Amino acid sequence: MARELKKVTPATPPAPVPNRTFSDYLNFEEQLPKKKQKQVRTWVRTAIQVLFFLFLPSAYSSAFNGVKYLFTQVGAGAVIEWTPFVAILVVLLVYTILFGRFFCGYACAFGSLGDWLFALQKYIAKKTGKKPKQLSRTTAKSLAGVKYVVLTAIVVLCFTGLYGKLTGWNPWDAFSMLHARNFRLGKHVVALVLLLLLMVGMAFEERFFCKFLCPMGAVFSLMPTLPFFSLFRTRKDCLNKCSACTKVCPADIELPNSGTLSVRGECFQCGRCAGGCPKTNIHCGVSGKTEKGKRRLKGNELWFVVLRAALLLGLFLWLGV
Ligand code: SF4
Ligand code: SF4
Ligand code: SF4
Repeated sequence: MARELKKVTPATPPAPVPNRTFSDYLNFEEQLPKKKQKQVRTWVRTAIQVLFFLFLPSAYSSAFNGVKYLFTQVGAGAVIEWTPFVAILVVLLVYTILFGRFFCGYACAFGSLGDWLFALQKYIAKKTGKKPKQLSRTTAKSLAGVKYVVLTAIVVLCFTGLYGKLTGWNPWDAFSMLHARNFRLGKHVVALVLLLLLMVGMAFEERFFCKFLCPMGAVFSLMPTLPFFSLFRTRKDCLNKCSACTKVCPADIELPNSGTLSVRGECFQCGRCAGGCPKTNIHCGVSGKTEKGKRRLKGNELWFVVLRAALLLGLFLWLGV
């Protein structure tokens, strides 16, 4: 009787263990699936925003006090002293020149409040099946210049010494008092009403206050920014007809028709465009060669987000914010 031959299936060789380099671990983000990359970015950003909101909410008003102090002193012909407010303002301006408006995207309590109110409105609209409300992009763009008018008005008021006579109207004071659980707002009724109006605006238009009204935002937009942390995207590398990055951009920054766009000025450095790009075509300006021989950071921007946040936190703690 012929013996039946057993069919032997050759054992599948074990998959080779990838030789990961140190740079692979640094670039962990690029190795994650696209959806996960976006989630990780969102979690990291939210964690940083919550941290600064809870523990350093006064950074915004301190820097703004620095601006007011400078122009009041200049208008009065008085000596400008190195006060804590001036120190915070100078540090934030230098930080913005080096790293762009990271403070706006991650660390400003007022900006974060705007993000959360807008997210809440979107969530409610989704749950109720309504379309989230927002201004048309043309209107939003035409209103972006109003913040420079606000800044000019404040500078003139400080310069002429009138600003000091206006009390009880400043919405930031009302915000600081509420944050500190000080509810004695009797002398700040106007400020409270203005704050509530701003919050309504923030809920219905993403970064309403930042884009249209914030005097500090106007100052930051005017600052020159070094290219290392600006976001670059090269148009020819884009997917056909894609506009995912412009749709999520709270600053309404457009794509160029051609060439490479380096985003500065109005950009809050929130990173949402980079997180949502289906082609991973948006990167900071350091490390990783590009076609033009420039250096770009590719795939490990997240580490630099954490480093920038840690540096800012250290600076604020050092300044006693
Ligand atoms: S624009 Fe003004 S309010 Fe908005 S995040 Fe920047 S400093 Fe804060
Ligand atoms: S360009 Fe990108 S990083 Fe800048 S504000 Fe728009 S989405 Fe945020
Ligand atoms: S999301 Fe990416 S691929 Fe799409 S337009 Fe923007 S940069 Fe180009």
